[in-house]
Amino acid sequence: MANRPMSSIFMQDSISGSLVGDLVTGAGPVIQECFDLAALGRTLPDRHFAANGRHYQVTFHAAADRNGDVSEILLVVLDVTRRVQVEHLLRESRRRLIATARRDHLTGLLNRRGLDNVLHRELRRSRRVGKSLSLVAIDIDWFKHYNDSLGHPQGDACLYSVAQTLIGCLRRAGDEACRYGGEEFLLVLPDADIGGAATVAANCQRAIDELDIAHPSSPFGRVTVSFGIAEAANGTEGALVALDTVALLAQADNALYRAKRNGRNRIEFAQGS
Ligand code: GH3
Ligand code: MG
Ligand code: MG
Repeated sequence: MANRPMSSIFMQDSISGSLVGDLVTGAGPVIQECFDLAALGRTLPDRHFAANGRHYQVTFHAAADRNGDVSEILLVVLDVTRRVQVEHLLRESRRRLIATARRDHLTGLLNRRGLDNVLHRELRRSRRVGKSLSLVAIDIDWFKHYNDSLGHPQGDACLYSVAQTLIGCLRRAGDEACRYGGEEFLLVLPDADIGGAATVAANCQRAIDELDIAHPSSPFGRVTVSFGIAEAANGTEGALVALDTVALLAQADNALYRAKRNGRNRIEFAQGS
């Protein structure tokens, strides 16, 4: 490097007159690499760096002496701060848009799209680590009557309360609650077997009971919910089940249907779980 000049940067801004080595940590090896690449006739890749809160893009150009040997590396430094800021804003707004599209606006829970994402991810993970994953399908009992007798806005308020109560019953970081349909919810419980899921469902049932929301046209006199639980167990059979989220959802849904048929306000389990 000693006989090869390290170019200064002459720019009308905050880095004007600085030495490359002062601005970019490890600039020496970068320049050396440029010399080596240029000697081989290869393209010199652009670099990016930040200094004094601004962002720069550097393009390198090799200059040859009269013998055709690479004698100098010229650097063109572009202030790309604005572009970096715009890119950051775009990324951030895209992230927010995706997050919003995955949430139900009434309850704040994941919506069905959000659930698909979580369920596929968690099923893959549970297969990988050889753990169970359980689904709890939940449906409010006699909700059409509730709406009919108390009105839609009251129905919305009830949905919101039930949703918040379900979230409040989730204890582990990976657990997720989703609004699956109108008055249907789904809990995704990674690392939970059927027993663990039954405990969560029983807690939800108790918590919703304690809300004690009056439901004049329900035989229970208050808002209740029914539960259907299915487990993707670990092991060979579980791995097969885990491949198919649709089958697992159908199992939970069948169990829920049985809970409805058997009187509502109860927990049923998928056959074979
Ligand atoms: P079951 O015990 O068998 O589940 O009976 P149900 O009346 O709860 O079930 P059904 O499927 O007949 O009715 C569901 C009702 O949920 C119909 C609709 O009025 C209500 N619903 C769905 N989405 C919303 C919503 O966003 N807000 C309100 N207020 N009501 C909703
Ligand atoms: Mg219902
Ligand atoms: Mg329903």
